[in-house]
Amino acid sequence: MTTLTLPRWFGRTRSAGSAPPPSRSKLRLGIPRVLNLWNTHQFWMGLLGALGFDPRNIVFSSDTSEEQGRQFGKGRGTVDCCYPVKCMSGHYGELVFGQKQKLDILLSPMIYTLPSFLSGHVAKTLTCPRVMAAPENIKAGFLKEGDAFAENGIRYCSPFVSLDEPLIVPKQLFEGMKDALPDLTREEMARAVDAGYKALHAFNDKLRKKSREVLEWCAREDKPCLMVVARPYHMDPGIGHEIEVDLQAYGYPILWMQYFPIDADLMDWAFGDDVRAGHVKSAFDIHDVWQSSYSSNTNEILWGAKVAARIPWIACVLRMSSYECGMDQPTYSPVQQIVERSGTLFFSFQDLDSTKPAGSVKIRVETITHYLEKYAADIINRKKAAMPPGCPLLPAA
Ligand code: SF4
Repeated sequence: MTTLTLPRWFGRTRSAGSAPPPSRSKLRLGIPRVLNLWNTHQFWMGLLGALGFDPRNIVFSSDTSEEQGRQFGKGRGTVDCCYPVKCMSGHYGELVFGQKQKLDILLSPMIYTLPSFLSGHVAKTLTCPRVMAAPENIKAGFLKEGDAFAENGIRYCSPFVSLDEPLIVPKQLFEGMKDALPDLTREEMARAVDAGYKALHAFNDKLRKKSREVLEWCAREDKPCLMVVARPYHMDPGIGHEIEVDLQAYGYPILWMQYFPIDADLMDWAFGDDVRAGHVKSAFDIHDVWQSSYSSNTNEILWGAKVAARIPWIACVLRMSSYECGMDQPTYSPVQQIVERSGTLFFSFQDLDSTKPAGSVKIRVETITHYLEKYAADIINRKKAAMPPGCPLLPAA
């Protein structure tokens, strides 16, 4: 006698056979801490949180170091170019081979445009072509003797994204991430993108507020501070070599140009006369010093020089750039001239590479602090005299 239960007992329901996709809160996702992730990381955190990832399962690779490159990136280099791109092999390798708990996804976005505060005032906000193409370059080193991602159970996800065009970002990220997240929907992505921008703006606002507090303290006490004019990834201790940290140890507050306060009252005080005289269209217009305003980080560097030249308590500008950087080359002279013509001290650390030039940095840091001790008060007074009355950084009289 046949039993009717057996066929059903061993039969598969529609969803059996292929395991259901793990809940996103269980997925582990790695992001290389490189390039323009330094200024957009909060967008990605906001986005992934809204998509259901547990923040504790989002892993950023460590700061760049030579050791990281030796241990995880050796033999995987595919391009000979600037160190901020080259070092990515070590970051990828750390995420693929160096995790105690394996990752499920490696997210390395190809960022084409950046959501800059100068957007709308400049021609474009493009990333450096090397930055945009870097994920493709570096990925190649992990595919040459077999697919290192697949062998480690990792889905490689590299969406192309124009972060300065919020209307097309949901479509771009849906297309770029749907293979890594099979149950993703377009509506869900639209909501997540919104959350990403909110997180990024909240973070930027918070840091700008902190910078304003620093500037207000300097104005109240008539003390100097320094401003770093560099690309966002020079904040990486392995790329910028913490030169500004060495200076901070002497008691000088440090501001990063990316997070300079852009409140209307301060912008009007700093640039209002130029706008009213017709030299520029707005406080964020840089056409007076930089005509080909296509590259986002380059535009911000030029704007940083302009604002540093105007704010009296910024007594010194630190310029950093990396060896073999074709984007920075044409900006060296204009940035230096803008800063120095205002009487502000200017020190440049060009050609930064993988190794910290510790000896020369030490000597230069001593030189900078010597000049600051000797001249900062005069610089502040001269710059104050050149500015209009009613500085909003000072308490109202
Ligand atoms: S801007 Fe310069 S340092 Fe940065 S990736 Fe491009 S070439 Fe390299």
